[in-house]
Amino acid sequence: MHGLMMDTQLSISSILRHAEKVHQHCEIVSRKPEGGVFRYTYKDAGRRARQAANVLTRLGVKQQDRVATLAWNTHRHYELYFAVSGSGAVLHTVNPRLFPEQIIYILNHAEDEVLFVDIQFVPLIEAIHDQLPLLKHIVLMVDKDKMPESKLDLLCYEELIDAASEEYEWPSFDENMAATLCYTSGTTGNPKGVLYSHRSTVIHALASVSNDALGVCNQSVVLPVVPMFHVNAWGVPYGATAGGAKLVLPGAGMDGASLYELISGEEVSLLLGVPTVWLGLLQYCDQEKLTLSSVEEVVIGGSAAPMSMIKAFQEKHDAFVIHAWGMTELSPMGTVNSMNNYMASLSQEERYKLQTKQGRPIYGIEIRIVDAEGKELLQDGKAFGRLQVRGPWVASSYYKHEDQSDWEDGWFDTGDVATIDEHGYMNIVDRAKDVIKSGGEWISSIDVENIAIGHEAVAECAVVGVPHPKWDERPLLLVVLNPGTSLTKEEMLEYLSDKIVKWWMPDEVMFVEELPHTPTGKLLKRELRDQYQDVYTQ
Ligand code: ADP
Repeated sequence: MHGLMMDTQLSISSILRHAEKVHQHCEIVSRKPEGGVFRYTYKDAGRRARQAANVLTRLGVKQQDRVATLAWNTHRHYELYFAVSGSGAVLHTVNPRLFPEQIIYILNHAEDEVLFVDIQFVPLIEAIHDQLPLLKHIVLMVDKDKMPESKLDLLCYEELIDAASEEYEWPSFDENMAATLCYTSGTTGNPKGVLYSHRSTVIHALASVSNDALGVCNQSVVLPVVPMFHVNAWGVPYGATAGGAKLVLPGAGMDGASLYELISGEEVSLLLGVPTVWLGLLQYCDQEKLTLSSVEEVVIGGSAAPMSMIKAFQEKHDAFVIHAWGMTELSPMGTVNSMNNYMASLSQEERYKLQTKQGRPIYGIEIRIVDAEGKELLQDGKAFGRLQVRGPWVASSYYKHEDQSDWEDGWFDTGDVATIDEHGYMNIVDRAKDVIKSGGEWISSIDVENIAIGHEAVAECAVVGVPHPKWDERPLLLVVLNPGTSLTKEEMLEYLSDKIVKWWMPDEVMFVEELPHTPTGKLLKRELRDQYQDVYTQ
């Protein structure tokens, strides 16, 4: 016997329709890529999203057509989040930090016919346009009087919106229909597309704003520094809208000074971003002797949050760090390390230690660790194995891609190695491909990095396994120093000596000007391994 409840289909447009009615006066503040700050409400955003949906119809976009964006976190990009998916088309957010060849590949692979771009990306599109045979329209998201000269036939977003009717009936359709598309950055091989549905996006948004996760509500002022061009800015535009939070969008300004200005001016309470962004902000605050007085919580994910960063936010800014883990294939939220009774019962030092773990799965996501044979391992905080996940917002395959090798018995293999403790806390030991195999034992490059970054002279560091004649691999520590500081190999090793076990100690420390990153800001360790492969064998 079925339950006798309405079979309402979950849809992205319903989130904005809700905010338009219930949180209509709540603000969205956006830094425009062409300069200046734009400010409006959910009610206005609803109106402009309907106008944008009419623009799409005018441009010939039909249900399930892919519509691409190359854009920063702005109100216009936000409107497209709802207009494109809400009208039944698929929003394909493109990461402008990918190599041009990768951008060409994914635009053609997704068969995008319409592309919305911010003004900074016009030169990029001009350079690659002749390799995009399917593209019919390019819409520049800029004020009318700021339209640049271009060899391309560019449409102006604001002009199209002005001419479009405010009347639009959001269509209803099967909640399993595709809504958005995001490609993983593909550090090896071509990028792979993850195709989210309305259902997965709405459930992910509801779960991630819950109190046990990010706790986003009408009283929150949220600044997603995570880009809207990668994994939908961790789903924040949907979650913040559902919760009726004030949403602050930083545009292209991700440096410390620009972020500080926005945070203090708008009294932001919740920040979300990757560790490198916070390094810049913390350094700026230190230099200028400033505090982030309005900030209550900082969500850190994408790469491991080092303890020194967790402490700096807590002790200098009275801001609690919520460490989170996820990936493109998970929409992206998997685990969140928010405050709970257990954490509250710990001493401050124990709490810091717990905060370096990536947290517990939010309800809806199941996680497990398995050994090389696929046998599930104990949740004792010690056994480590490949981390696998399943749930309604986990990908079941890649877009137009046959390979199913990352899936096993209904579980997705994340490629991460982790432990899970008795309280359910997951700790990422390493990416499986980055773990250092020394004399049959494993060394976590992340753990060593997190300790080394705690030295005040270290701005950034990377630990990689390098071939060694006796031990297979040994760790090499590469350090970027803070400006105006100095440090020797011996001083670095001395600092590490009472913090890690002896056989984890890097055999060599090298000082470098900068470290290579992936387009999503993670350390590009493959490149470092290639570059330094002979260090221990020469
Ligand atoms: P891509 O860079 O290919 O787009 P994702 O953005 O999907 O990849 O990144 C997912 C990976 O990032 C995870 O599998 C994990 O290795 C790493 N990651 C994400 N959050 C954390 C975290 N809090 N701590 C450590 N690693 C993390």
